[in-house]
This record gives sequence, structure tokens and C-alpha cells, in this order.
Amino acid sequence: MKIEKNSVVELDYQLMDVEGNVWESSKEGGPWVYLHGHGEVMPGLESQLTGKAIGQKIRVELGPEEAYGPYEDDLKTEVPREAFADVDNLAEGMRLAAESSDGVHAVMVREIRDDIVIIDANHPLAGKAVKVEVKVLSVRAGTDEEIAHGHVHQHGTCES
Ligand SMILES: [Zn+2]
Repeated sequence: MKIEKNSVVELDYQLMDVEGNVWESSKEGGPWVYLHGHGEVMPGLESQLTGKAIGQKIRVELGPEEAYGPYEDDLKTEVPREAFADVDNLAEGMRLAAESSDGVHAVMVREIRDDIVIIDANHPLAGKAVKVEVKVLSVRAGTDEEIAHGHVHQHGTCES
């Protein structure tokens, strides 16, 4: 069976930056399962997957606009250093979970000045091109219910 609109596709994947550093892969998180043709996958990858079958591999390079979006300067915030009093060994490049009025966000310590810390809430791959390598592990037709919902029901039930 070939991948077409409304196929449920299972993929081995590896997400890399252009230098080849691996950011995410199915080795850690397990295969990625999605419903084809419903915008769940980056558009540049989804179009390449159409017509592929089990065992086929694809490698695509995606620009920032097709991956994690542009780098946004206004996602950088200056925070007084005393706010990090309970963080051991605060250093530039460190990743932290920051709590704000709308939840917890992953942020990076971009710069440390005397009494100011600049934190950055951009995705670490924002503004960067990425490479994605995938291998098709399985393809099946989506059920009527999955197609109506626009997502996969992994264990036969709707989890969202
Ligand atoms: Zn559902």
C-alpha cells in the first residue's frame, strides 16, 4: 500500500540541524504515527511522503519557514539575576523550564550580564534549516472515525 490522503503512516525518523547534530529521533521517543494529508507533518515532508511505501526512506532539507519558524527577537526577555538564585551553576546555553502566566516554557539562557540574565523562549531550531530523515515502517488506511477527527486513534480510541 502506498501513502495517500487518509493513510495512517508509521515512521522511523531523525531530526537534525544542517551540521548533522541529531535533535530528536524515534530511537528515543519511538516511531511517529500520523494521519496523512491533515497537516500534522511539516508540509515539505508530507508532500515527499505521498506515494511512498513500506521500507522507503526519504531525506529532506527544510527551510526555517517549513520547520520551526523564524527566530523572533521579542521572545528574548531580560530577567533580574536574583530570579535565578536557586539555580546551580547558571551558565550561558543552559536550558531551563520557566513558569509564566500561561504555563511552563522551555527557555535557554542566552546571555548573563552583571545583574541581568537574558532568556530566550525561541525553539532552539527557530530560524534554522533542518534535515529530516524518515523510513516508512507501516501504512494502513485510516478508519472513518480517524478521518473525521483528522488524527490517528492509536489504540482504537480517541485520546484528544
Ligand atoms: Zn479522535
